[in-house]
Amino acid sequence: MADVFDDAIKRLYTLGQQADIPDNVLAHLSRPVAVLCSSLHVRMDDGSSQYFQAYRCQYSYLLGPCKGGIRFHPNVSQAEVQALGLWMTIKCAVIGLPLGGGKGGVVVDPKQLSKLELERLSRAYMRANVDVIGPDRDIPAPDVYTNARIMGWMCDEYEIITRKKQPAVITGKPIELGGSLGREEATGRGAFLCTEFLREKMSATASGLTVAVQGFGNAGYHVARLLGEAGYKVVAISDSKGAIYAPEGLDVESVWQQKQATTKLQAVYCQGSVCEIVEHKNISHEELLALDVDILIPAALENSITMVNAADIRARWIVEVANGPISSEADQLLHKKGIVIVPDVLANAGGVTVSYFEWVQNKAGYPWTLEEVRQRLKDRMQQAFNEIWDYHKASAGKESGVESEVSLRSAAYAKALHGIKNVIDVRGTKAYFSREES
Ligand code: GLU
Repeated sequence: MADVFDDAIKRLYTLGQQADIPDNVLAHLSRPVAVLCSSLHVRMDDGSSQYFQAYRCQYSYLLGPCKGGIRFHPNVSQAEVQALGLWMTIKCAVIGLPLGGGKGGVVVDPKQLSKLELERLSRAYMRANVDVIGPDRDIPAPDVYTNARIMGWMCDEYEIITRKKQPAVITGKPIELGGSLGREEATGRGAFLCTEFLREKMSATASGLTVAVQGFGNAGYHVARLLGEAGYKVVAISDSKGAIYAPEGLDVESVWQQKQATTKLQAVYCQGSVCEIVEHKNISHEELLALDVDILIPAALENSITMVNAADIRARWIVEVANGPISSEADQLLHKKGIVIVPDVLANAGGVTVSYFEWVQNKAGYPWTLEEVRQRLKDRMQQAFNEIWDYHKASAGKESGVESEVSLRSAAYAKALHGIKNVIDVRGTKAYFSREES
């Protein structure tokens, strides 16, 4: 299979051409502006030295400073940060944020590090990248296996080096260091809102809908929790080790609390500190993805659904909380099967939207209330969802064959790419410089 960046570019061209985006725009978006590769030296607790490969990809600053998280994971690669940087570029444009796209990563299994080693690694990352990062240049945030505390260490390191208080250099920080209320839940809340908007468009009632969530990190937890609270029935949850399935429904908060306390995923119902096991089955990741549920929420890593398992998917709707969970070929197959997919660049955009709010609050030196953050997030997500939905509906009948409407992903890319095209156009195109256009 092509690497994840090749696949992302293939998708960019397919969807870009479908939306009549000129080649000069697609060529511009087919490569990152810059990628800084570095080796991080970390003193381990036993006194030994270890070296970790790190990346910061600045994909595009056409619409504003580069923006995107930093992940700590053994499978991080240059191709991966580039794909993620492109998706951040599209995502920010989908929501209409004045931000470009970027992404960083370190090849590491953070579970193998002590807390002090993790702090040294986080600070080393900022030292290695300090020349390219900045509040008006490139603003990192959390991603897979990084969190508010890690952002706090990185922010602190940046401020020590530059000898200035600069909270706007990084988002997703602890509240005490200038983080925004509502940032921690934001990715999950954004995905929850998208599920609600879709449900309303489909005239369905929440209580009749079953949900399977693949991945139980911060985003997976919050989306599952909010759906459960709104009356959806969350019947399956997985983490990196396995999955639990309870047709009668799981109490998301209990499962989460138990996982925090024991690191194990268990089907439990807790009252205070007393937890009881509920009737359930332990199933595999593959079985979870193939469950006959209404809504499947992939919230783990890229390429969970490829041509290997796409034919097994039985859900009616998929809400992509992870970045790139469906390969481009599998995506086409699922679309042909009539599965409605809310794409990552919309469904998980709540995180970067509240990151943007955090950056605005830091620049203004004026924090917002939780209600303001939630309301503004809802307004932004609703507007983007409606525009994408309307484009998708307006395309009905234009395409030949079985598909009668472009997918929500095609519509989201069309919206983002037209916005980016307009910015490229006003800087001057071939037609302008060859005087075909005044
Ligand atoms: N890592 C998140 C994402 O992939 C958030 C990025 C940000 O807040 O800048 O969207």
